[in-house]
Parts: sequence; C-alpha cells; structure tokens
Amino acid sequence: MSVYEKLASMDAMMEKEGPGAGIELLRQQGYLSVCLPERWGGRGWEISPAGMLPMLELLREIGRGSLAVGRIYEGHVNALRLIHSFGTAEQKSRWSGDALDGCCFGIWNTGRPEEDVKFVKGQDGKIFLEGAKVFASGAEWVDRPIISAKNFDGGSQLLVIAPAGSGLEFDRTTWDPMGMAGSVSHRLDVTGVEVFTEMLLGQPDCYARQPWLSGGAMRFAAVQLGGAEALLEITRQHLRATGRTDHAYQEERVSKMLTDCESGRLWLGGAAERAEAAESEPERLVHYVGMMRSAIEGICFRTIQRAHQCVGLQGMLRPHAMERVSRDLMTYLRQPNPDGSLMGAGRYALGIAEPLESLWKGKKE
Ligand SMILES: Cc1cc2nc3c(=O)[nH]c(=O)nc-3n(C[C@H](O)[C@H](O)[C@H](O)COP(=O)(O)OP(=O)(O)OC[C@H]3O[C@@H](n4cnc5c(N)ncnc54)[C@H](O)[C@@H]3O)c2cc1C
Repeated sequence: MSVYEKLASMDAMMEKEGPGAGIELLRQQGYLSVCLPERWGGRGWEISPAGMLPMLELLREIGRGSLAVGRIYEGHVNALRLIHSFGTAEQKSRWSGDALDGCCFGIWNTGRPEEDVKFVKGQDGKIFLEGAKVFASGAEWVDRPIISAKNFDGGSQLLVIAPAGSGLEFDRTTWDPMGMAGSVSHRLDVTGVEVFTEMLLGQPDCYARQPWLSGGAMRFAAVQLGGAEALLEITRQHLRATGRTDHAYQEERVSKMLTDCESGRLWLGGAAERAEAAESEPERLVHYVGMMRSAIEGICFRTIQRAHQCVGLQGMLRPHAMERVSRDLMTYLRQPNPDGSLMGAGRYALGIAEPLESLWKGKKE
C-alpha cells in the first residue's frame, strides 16, 4: 500500500480521533526530516532549490491521502524552513536533532486581534507571554510549534515553544468546522509561558520576509491539489463500480477533471522551477506563486463541482469518502489573502515593460 492509500484508509478515523496515526506514519517513513538541509541530516527537500519539486510532490501525495495530515505536515515543513533561514547554528543543530528524533513542528501565527500573543514583563525582569493563538493545527500532536508574539517595540517575534508537560491546555470549543476537523486546529492560550533567549527565532518581523511568506503558498497549493486528485479518483472508482461510465457527459466531466489535475501538476513544476531563482528574483516568485495558488484553487473548485455532478447524491452520504474529502477541501481552500495574491500578478505585469515571453522566466530559459 502506498503512503497516500494508507493515509486515505485512516482519514475517516482521524476526523474523529485526531491525526496521531497519520503523523506516526509520516514519522516512520522518515518524512519529518526530509526537509532538513543535508548537512543537518536531511535530504534538503524544500530548503534546497533542487529539493523543491520532490517536496511539493510529497505534499500533494500526503494531501491526496489526508488533507488534515497534509495541513499539519505543511506547517512542519514551513517551521523547519524558518528555523534554517533564521536560526543560530546552535538552534539549527538542536531543532534538526529533534526533527530527526521524530518531533513534529508547526507554525501558529494566527491570533485574534483582541487577544493575540504579546510579551509582558514579570517580576525580576523576567518576560512572559500573554494571549492566545487560534487555528493551531496539530494541537498536542505538534511537539515544537513556532508561535509569533508582539514584543515590547511592537515587532512580531517568533519563538519555539514546547507545550508538552507545560500545563498548557487547548481550548477545543473554537474549532467546530465544516471540514478539516482532523487537523485539530484548536485555540491555545499561552499566558504565563516564560520567554528565554534560546526560544527566540530570528529578528522581529522575519516571518513576513519575502519571497517565502507568499512564495510558501506553493506548499499548501500542493496539498490542495492532492485533495482534488483524491476526488477525481473517488469519482472514477465510483462510476466504474456502479457501471455509470458509458455516458458522454460523464466522460466529458472526467476528462475535464483529468485535464485540471494534470494542469495542477504542471503548476507544481513551474513553481519549483521559479523557486530556484528565489533569492535573485524574489518578486517574480511571489507573483508566480500567486497565480499558481489561484489556479489550483480554481482547479479544486471545479473538481468538487464535477465530482458531485458525476456521483450525485450517493457522494453526499456518509460514509462515502466524497462527502468527507469535499468538506475538507472546501475548508482547506480558505487561506490568507487570496484576492491580494491574485491582484499582485496583474499589478506586477502591468508595472514592468518586460516582454511577455520573459516575464516568468525560469532557470532553463
Ligand atoms: C484548516 C486550516 C488550518 C489552519 N491552520 C493554521 C495554523 O496552523 N497556523 C496558522 O497560523 N494559521 C492557520 N490557519 C489560518 C490561515 O492561515 C488563515 O489565517 C486563514 O485560513 C485565513 O482565511 P480567511 O478565509 O479567514 O481569510 P481572510 O483573510 O479573512 O479572507 C476572507 C476574504 O476577505 C478578503 N479580505 C481580506 N482582507 C480584506 C480587507 N482588508 N478588505 C476586504 N476584503 C478582505 C480576502 O481576500 C478573502 O476574499 C488555518 C486555516 C485553515 C482553513
């Protein structure tokens, strides 16, 4: 059984019981460390230019099996990228070691304005955290989350915390979503956690640095594409099993779904190629990924619609996998700033005189 088949076989269970079994599978496969640079014991996926495509393909594969586990794994990969971009040598060594030992990382940045996390001064000059994070995907299954906190100058400081054994408790009342329940994206109040220098990652506001704040959207787009592929395959199997294949409209819809999913794969290749020039052409990568995530969002929407049209009401009834995967994909498509990222590509192209043929030039051209 492939990894995506194993994840798919556990996905309904994980929706109710949480993503532990899926994360354990990734741990056993060695996927928690592939995104470390080679000198720190990994395979350099994500972090090295040549490692971007294998990373995107793996994210797609995991998303195909379970969007919830894909979401958590995407956060893990993002967190290790942040550590290897902004950490000190000592931090890189410590947290790479933790990843090699099977620790799952995450990035919990989102907070409600009225309660987002900030630094406060305690007695004896000690510094503590006050406030809460929401949408903390992975919850207690994440061993080393990176969170952001407003420092005394108003900057956003990243820190790596270790909630296990700290007495912190997730508030499970705020995450009751239409889909992606298995991502356990709960609220965590971190008030009272003491801040030590070794927890601080990078300079204030480093998280917002481009091109990777926006360019990193290629990772969630890859996971989303996996969800569209899952729906395509569920549809195909359903039509074959029910003998509903010999029908021109079904053939047309499946053909369009195949075309869309294949286009998505080409977008992964295009984004990975542009990532190779990320440092010299950061703006180009940001806007290319803006187009890519928007294209993949469209692919996913169309695939959901066509899958529903192909299968009909049977696909809306539990425990049909289409029911769950459609809900999960609809929910996971909601990512920050979708309009802004689409507008950006147009603004970029309208603002420069470069001819069209070299506008998105990749390494090979
Ligand atoms: C399953 C799931 C898990 C998640 N896990 C995590 C996690 O682990 N860590 C984490 O930090 N976050 C997480 N998130 C949160 C995520 O990163 C985003 O914050 C969230 O998805 C934003 O979605 P939204 O639709 O509310 O976006 P919004 O930004 O509110 O967008 C909604 C709409 O409003 C538009 N809009 C935005 N701003 C404006 C404006 N000023 N004026 C007019 N229109 C505007 C947008 O273009 C869009 O059309 C998770 C989200 C999901 C769905």
